[in-house]
Amino acid sequence: MCRRCALFRARTKAVPGNGSSILKAMLIGEAPGRSEDHLGTPFVGKAGKILDIVLQVTGINRSQIYITNIVKCRPPDNRIPKSVEMMACRMYLNREIAVLKPRIIGLLGRTAYSTLIGGNGFSSNRGHILEKNGLSYLITFHPAAAIYNKTIMETLRIDFTKLSFELGLK
Ligand code: URA
Repeated sequence: MCRRCALFRARTKAVPGNGSSILKAMLIGEAPGRSEDHLGTPFVGKAGKILDIVLQVTGINRSQIYITNIVKCRPPDNRIPKSVEMMACRMYLNREIAVLKPRIIGLLGRTAYSTLIGGNGFSSNRGHILEKNGLSYLITFHPAAAIYNKTIMETLRIDFTKLSFELGLK
């Protein structure tokens, strides 16, 4: 069991990535929440329900993509992971990317954006595909953002439609 950072102390289950390599597409969120911590599976709580709807309306089958997070253990009170925690967990993400060899990676929200792309350009790059170190990234909102702001749902739909096109599904 991983003890590379202090998050192991409060976790119930570590939450590794989950899914398949059929479409060679990966989504990266921030960190597990309460439901994920209990079940050991990413995006199964409220944000996961929103993600499921967005995937469904854009014709992407969840079982054919791979979904993971920047850190694999729940931060207490769902706080943003600390940089030491993200650094400690980075080797797992690097390995997931190396094994899956994704055609495209969807970065869900600012934490995933700043970790993989760096800098402050989240808002200006949202909805765009960026290339970095031989990988393609689609920048979009974290699905949890749509819990409090319903207009974000439509933006998610537009961005995931782009992902669906990139994967040859539309
Ligand atoms: N939010 C995330 O970023 N990841 C999850 O797995 C669940 C909620």
